[in-house]
Amino acid sequence: MLNKVSVGVRNLQKYRLILGNELIDELEKLAAELKGIRICHVNSTQFGGGVAELLSSYVPLVRNLGITMDWQVIHGDRPFFTVTKSLHNALQGGDSSLIRSKEALELYETQSKANALEMDYNYDVFIINDPQPAAVRYFSDNTHAKWLWRCHIDTSEPDEEAWNFLHTYLKHYDAAIFTMAEFIPRDLTVPIIATMAPAIDALSAKNMALPRGLCREMTENLGIDRARPLILQVSRFDPWKDPFGVIKIYQLAKERVPGLQLALVGSLAADDPEGSEMYAAIHTEADKDNDVYVFTNLTGVGSMQVNAFQTACDVVIQKSIREGFGLVVSEALWKARPVVAGNAGGIPMQMTGNLSNYLVQSIEGCADKVVYLLKNPNIAARLGKEGKENVKRNFLMPRLMRDELSLVKRVLEA
Ligand code: UDP
Repeated sequence: MLNKVSVGVRNLQKYRLILGNELIDELEKLAAELKGIRICHVNSTQFGGGVAELLSSYVPLVRNLGITMDWQVIHGDRPFFTVTKSLHNALQGGDSSLIRSKEALELYETQSKANALEMDYNYDVFIINDPQPAAVRYFSDNTHAKWLWRCHIDTSEPDEEAWNFLHTYLKHYDAAIFTMAEFIPRDLTVPIIATMAPAIDALSAKNMALPRGLCREMTENLGIDRARPLILQVSRFDPWKDPFGVIKIYQLAKERVPGLQLALVGSLAADDPEGSEMYAAIHTEADKDNDVYVFTNLTGVGSMQVNAFQTACDVVIQKSIREGFGLVVSEALWKARPVVAGNAGGIPMQMTGNLSNYLVQSIEGCADKVVYLLKNPNIAARLGKEGKENVKRNFLMPRLMRDELSLVKRVLEA
């Protein structure tokens, strides 16, 4: 059997204090209409990266509405996840050499068949996240359920061969969900195509309000000098997140802000074999400078510590080159931190209004904006406040619950 992740139930009612009653009342009405429906999310890891982060809050909040929702995780060994990471990269327009090999595609199919045999099919609706488990629908003989494919990555300019390969499996779905309309490949043929942005959980250990003084103490205990400025990037160790670019940005900014410190906080995800190699390379680079810190979940920097870093730091960087959404941007904005971020994929939708002036393309441009914000704390504080409002309006869990449950209802009625 595939593993089911134990996430319990979380109290949705607390969101009334943040968002008022209207949306939560609407969710309760939707839940009554979906009474008795059993929904299951499927992905490829229970830890590391945005999808696991999202599901670990989303599933227990939906359960609080009285809806049956579970989360199954597919199996795979390192060669399988090497293939799926290549597929992921190629779908984002990156290197596609590996997925051109017949062996790689066969490996993907064989493992997908094995996963399909191990799934618990006792559900009315499956929501399959990302390319790794996408083929289980094809290899399952479950016909009574509705199947939705949820794409979390930027597929606006996919490698053609990679896309054609995946599309073979997607054709059998009842609906597909993308973060932005720009990500929908032109030739996709499924009956219903929807767009909805992901969201963060304001009540999780990652995002709950912590006093800034306490957070500064926590980061101090991890070696940071609280008397000097700190910039931060939180990301999986992945080339698309440009961690080496971030180190260069820090070096350029430090010429104008002496004493500057950089923290790179990165997790290693079970389904991302590229991570450990990049981690080693980043470590080597960081070792050359006493004011560059690298932290990971492997040494105890978990959700609460990420919260502390995001709350305590002076400026957050997210220098992504490609980005499906970038939960970390909303996480930082929710803490009213100023963010300078790559003008990529789903990031601009989180950086609207005055925040859009801090969307960057180049390393030099990013360093300039970082220095400006470090030298103008009043402007940085105003931006943080504006960002927090934007997250409250658009990127908290109840909005995503409404979007997804409404779609489930629509698919069931189709
Ligand atoms: N994250 C974390 N610890 C780390 C690095 C990342 O908890 O050391 C979390 C981060 O806070 C965010 C998620 O992993 O919730 C990353 O999601 P995002 O959408 O930004 O990127 P993805 O990894 O999905 O590409």
